[in-house]
Amino acid sequence: MKNLATETKKILKDYNIRLNKRLGQHYLIDDSKRQKILFYADLKDDDTILEIGPGIGTLTIPLASRAGKVIAIEKDKRIATILKDRLKDYENVELIIGDALKIDFPYFNKIVSNLPYKISSPITFKLLEYDFDFGILMYQQEFAERMIAKPGTKDYSRLSVALYFMADIEILDYVPRSAFLPPPKVDSVILKLTPKGKINGIFERTCRALFQHKRKKARNALIESFHEISADADPRKIVELIDPRLLEKRVFTLTAEEILKISNELKRVIS
Ligand code: SAH
Repeated sequence: MKNLATETKKILKDYNIRLNKRLGQHYLIDDSKRQKILFYADLKDDDTILEIGPGIGTLTIPLASRAGKVIAIEKDKRIATILKDRLKDYENVELIIGDALKIDFPYFNKIVSNLPYKISSPITFKLLEYDFDFGILMYQQEFAERMIAKPGTKDYSRLSVALYFMADIEILDYVPRSAFLPPPKVDSVILKLTPKGKINGIFERTCRALFQHKRKKARNALIESFHEISADADPRKIVELIDPRLLEKRVFTLTAEEILKISNELKRVIS
């Protein structure tokens, strides 16, 4: 088989495609990283794989050869035309042309994707609304570090807290920018995302209110952004009903469990 970089360049040239950075079009050209992704996906005959942003099919084609079915969602019509041609001989691929953020996903049990970076956050939360075994996903390294950040660190964020309860996340490998055509400005990681649980609305709103003031004490953060949690309650009165030891801590040092405790106490006192 031809070298993946040469092959990718030739396909893009044949179809006269100029890649669009706004769509996160950085195509994987490192075959050893591709093989690793496929290995971690642990593909079985009865797997239905969801792939978001298949591009020219670098992952799609080997996925289709090894799994029962692949559902690929690609937004760019020009790229989808290439993919359709390349998938001629594969009957087990359902190609959906559209925006993965706007489409309801059909049944899948695993997701394997080199994700478009711009939609990392919304697509992760959308995925976690579904039940599936696990995902093998490529993200920007900075984003992945925020996903798994621990309390008290600079990367700790609303994202880290929400994902703490929603998924187990394990970084499997680092991928340098040179593994893509064209190379993006940042490096990437491959990680395994295993769904774990759901979070409730008040917890989500409490996180949003708190993290609008990451460096402040939780008490002040809650009071200042109480509108995120409830419109018709007096914030000063409400916060007095919460464990003062938690309210004294700075937001970025609160553990996810502590934030859950705050939100559960809020739930009790807000109608
Ligand atoms: N998986 C391929 C391509 C990754 S680049 C590879 O590894 O080489 C990301 C791809 O996602 C691009 O083809 C881009 O057109 C597509 N894309 C960007 N935003 C999208 C969206 N909202 N929904 C579906 N596809 C999208």
